[in-house]
Amino acid sequence: MIQKVLIANRGEIALRILRACRALDIATVAVHSTADRDLKHVRLADESVCIGGPPSAESYLNIPAIISAAEVTDADAIHPGFGFLSENADFAERVEESGFRFIGPRAETIRLMGDKVSAIEAMKKAGVPCVPGSDGPLSDDDAHNLRLGEQIGYPVIVKAAAGGGGRGMRVVHDADDLLHAISVTRTEATNAFGSRVVYMEKYLDDPRHIEIQVLADEQGHAVHLGERDCSMQRRHQKVIEESPAPGITAAERADIGARCIAACQRLGYRGAGTFEFLYQDGEFYFIEMNTRIQVEHPVTEMVTGRDLVAEQIRVAGGEALSFSQDDIEFRGHAIECRINAEDPERFIPSPGQINLYHPPGGPGIRVDSHVYTGYVVPPHYDSMIGKIIAWGEDRPSAIARMRTALSELVIEGIQSNRLLHLNLMADPGFRAGGANIHYLEKKLNLR
Ligand code: ADP
Repeated sequence: MIQKVLIANRGEIALRILRACRALDIATVAVHSTADRDLKHVRLADESVCIGGPPSAESYLNIPAIISAAEVTDADAIHPGFGFLSENADFAERVEESGFRFIGPRAETIRLMGDKVSAIEAMKKAGVPCVPGSDGPLSDDDAHNLRLGEQIGYPVIVKAAAGGGGRGMRVVHDADDLLHAISVTRTEATNAFGSRVVYMEKYLDDPRHIEIQVLADEQGHAVHLGERDCSMQRRHQKVIEESPAPGITAAERADIGARCIAACQRLGYRGAGTFEFLYQDGEFYFIEMNTRIQVEHPVTEMVTGRDLVAEQIRVAGGEALSFSQDDIEFRGHAIECRINAEDPERFIPSPGQINLYHPPGGPGIRVDSHVYTGYVVPPHYDSMIGKIIAWGEDRPSAIARMRTALSELVIEGIQSNRLLHLNLMADPGFRAGGANIHYLEKKLNLR
């Protein structure tokens, strides 16, 4: 059993992890940079340790400092949250070698899934449907790559095997541009991810992004908790997520869910994970697996009534999952809006002091945020300052509650994307449900 968790993250997810620990009666250690002394969870944690300067490389990515903090505070497990070191296999390995539990999958699973080429290969073997593509890394043989492009059929997308965060991808519309795109993506990938490996897959022109949430324990149990639709994206980054995905039938959910469960069992997966798919013309195509808790996990929690973070911690402590597939029921509809400190027109970050903050409330509303009146949003990190999640018996009532919540939300002193969300809640294309991944960008360019 885990008794003390070190939270190796910041912001709203650090607070979310702290809340799960408290509900489980587990002590908490917050680690923070010198720019983050005033974070809410730092104040609430049982202990806190300053691990370095504001740049992430000195603090939230500083592996020796985090391990030392766990040693001096006598923590027995480390929760990485999302971003930062959450999908760093070397970190997971160092954590376990130093005698702590890593709240996530085994390092070798993270390594396998962190390379998109090896992840796709593993999924194919496990019977998970994938996007037609190069079936492996691209070589330096130009003629061969051109033949592959013809076989797959244009448009294609060249992607970095180690890519993430929507970076390291290039769409190619015809053969003339392929070789240049491969070389540019290789250079970008080398600079951003330290790996020149790229692969190619069919570029789907009209897909939705639909993902499946899973949980697995070391006793060999695995369950799925349904899907999330994350098609509202800008620059391949999610803006709104919801569950269930409009129009997905119970039979489709059960089928793709069962395939994900089988893949988890084959991989010996442990903890929470997400299988990301593109969905087009009634077919699912695997694109990647995230081996961590995700920003959008609350929508799944709202429709299943399960605490995913608590379950992650239990499983990391060696306990079996506290429920089985038959226990999971889906009720109602949940939508999440990511609230960012940014200029709503130009989307550039807007750090600074929040002079006034009033979060919304009421039936079905959940606010996951670390901010408060007087809090200063530092310029060094991601601009997301919180999430509003609205639950309703059906999608229209979830949207109605979200509109009310957004209209109640007050954030003064910095800019936010509140109005963008409010507009989307009234947008006919969003309200109809089932918009594709290009919808939001097209709408924004029209203005
Ligand atoms: P990352 O790891 O950077 O998030 P993903 O592989 O998950 O990259 O892809 C992110 C987004 O890029 C997807 O949600 C989708 O919008 C777009 N995308 C990726 N692969 C394809 C593809 N084959 N066809 C069309 N869009 C794609």
